[in-house]
Amino acid sequence: MSSSYSSDSFTNAMEQFQKAIKLLESTNKKIQEKLEELKKPQRIITVSIPVTMDNGSIKTFRGYRVQYNNTLGPYKGGIRYHPQVNIDEVMALSFWMMMKCAVAGLPMGGGKGGIRVNPKELSEGELERLSRGYVRAIAEYIGPHKDVPAPDVNTNGMIMGWMVDEYIKITCAEKLKLAEVANKNLDPSSVAHLTDSSARSPKASEAGQNFACSPQTSLDYLRATFTGKLIKDGGSEGREEATGKGGVYVLDRILEKLGIDRKQKQLTVAVQGFGNVGYNVAKILSDSGYNVVAVSDSKGGIYAPEGLHPESVLTCKRKTGMIDHCYCIGSVCDVKRAHRITNEELLELPVDILVPAALESVLNASNAGRIKARVILEMANGPTAPQADALLYKEGRIVVPDVLANSGGVTVSTFEWEQNLAGEHWTKEEVNKKLKATMQKATDAIWEMQKKLNTNLRTAAFVVALERILGTGK
Ligand code: NAD
Repeated sequence: MSSSYSSDSFTNAMEQFQKAIKLLESTNKKIQEKLEELKKPQRIITVSIPVTMDNGSIKTFRGYRVQYNNTLGPYKGGIRYHPQVNIDEVMALSFWMMMKCAVAGLPMGGGKGGIRVNPKELSEGELERLSRGYVRAIAEYIGPHKDVPAPDVNTNGMIMGWMVDEYIKITCAEKLKLAEVANKNLDPSSVAHLTDSSARSPKASEAGQNFACSPQTSLDYLRATFTGKLIKDGGSEGREEATGKGGVYVLDRILEKLGIDRKQKQLTVAVQGFGNVGYNVAKILSDSGYNVVAVSDSKGGIYAPEGLHPESVLTCKRKTGMIDHCYCIGSVCDVKRAHRITNEELLELPVDILVPAALESVLNASNAGRIKARVILEMANGPTAPQADALLYKEGRIVVPDVLANSGGVTVSTFEWEQNLAGEHWTKEEVNKKLKATMQKATDAIWEMQKKLNTNLRTAAFVVALERILGTGK
C-alpha cells in the first residue's frame, strides 16, 4: 500500500469540499473532527498485477483501489481502465463517490478503483487475465458489506462478470457448491464452473480463508460484491442506460425549476464523449425531444446545426471507427449536413445545454469564458475545474454538478446490490420508476439548499451530502 498526493484532481475536489465546509459553520468539536477525517481516504490500496501476455511474456500492471469513507454503508465505486489512471485521480473519484451516494440518499460509502492500462492494446484473453488478477489482489478488501465495485471508463458488464466469477472462486466456491447441491437448489453441473481451480492462485486461496463463507452463503449474496453485471450474472434491468437516464431526469427537473418551457422552444444540446454515458444521454435526450446538434469522442466530433440522430452516429462510428468520419463527403452523407469539429470547439458551441461526458477538467480557466451554454449537465466526473466553476457561476450559467447529474448509475447499481441481497429481480419499469423518484428527490433537496444558502448547485449538493454523512441533516 502506498499514497501519493500529487497532480490536480484531488486538489480540485478538496477545494470544492472547503467551500461546503465554510457554509456548514459548525463549531461542534465532534463535527470538526469528522470533517477533518473526511479530507483523506480511509484506505489506499496499490497493487501490482502480473499478467501472462499472449506471446508468453509477463507484463506487470499497476492497480489501485481507494476506500474513501464508509459512514453511510459499504464503499461503492467503479473501476477505470485507462493509461493515465493515477492515485490522485482515483482518490478524487472516490471522494466524489462518497458525496454522490450521500446526495442520492443511498446506503453506500465512497470508493473507486483503476488500472493503469490501455485496454485497446490488449487481446480479450489478456484483458480477462488482468481483470481476474486485479480481483485476486484486492479480494480481501471487497465483499457485499465491505466494498462493492462497478464499471467505469473502459470497463463493462463483461469485465464485471469475470471479476465476480473470480471473486466467487476465491471466496467460497467449494462450500457454496456443497451447500447448494446438498440443499438441492442446484444441479451439480450448474455449479461445476465455480470450482475450476486453474484460475486460483495460492494467495487467493489463503485470502479465501479470511472470508465469511458459511454453508448458508448463496450465489446471489456473493454476486452482490460487484454491480453493473450482465443480466445473466445477476445484473439489474436498466443498469446500462441508468446514468444517462438519471441525468435526463435531473435535467428535466432543473429546467422546470428554471421555468424553461421545452414546449416553447426545442433546446439544443452538445455532448462530449460518446461512450456508455455520452451515447445514452444523447439518445435519451434526442428521444425525448431535445435537439442533439453535436457529439464527439476522443478522436474528435461532428456538429450538425439542424440536429443529428445519435443512433445513426453510433452505427456510423462502428462502421468507420471514428465519429468525425461521420459527415458528408460530396453527396455521400452518414449524418446530414454535419461538419467536423474538435473537442475544444464542441465545448464552446452556441447551444442551450452542454453535456461533458468524457474526462476530468475539460472546462477550465482557459475556456470557461467562452462557454455559451446556459446549462451544463456534468455527466463525466469532475469535468469542471474550480476556477471555471466560479467563472461560470458569476456569468449566470447553471452547472448541474456530477455528484447529482450522474448519480443515476450508482443508484441503479445500488438497486442491483439490493436485488442480489434479497434474491430478487425487478422489472425495467420498477427500476426506472424508483430511479426517477430518487433523482427528483435529490434534485429538489439540492435546489432548496442552493436557494437557502444562496450558493451554486455544487456547493449546495456537498452541504446536503455532508449533513447526511455527519448525521446533522433534518
Ligand atoms: P466510456 O469509456 O464508455 O466512454 C468514454 C468516452 O469518452 C468515449 O467515447 C471516449 O472516446 C471519450 N473520450 C475519451 N477521452 C476524450 C477526450 N479527451 N475528449 C472527448 N472525448 C473523450 O466511459 P463512460 O462510462 O461513458 O464514462 C464517461 C464519464 O462518465 C467518466 O467521467 C465516468 O467516470 C463518468 N461516469 C460513468 C458512469 C457509468 O455508469 N458508466 C457513471 C457515473 C459517471
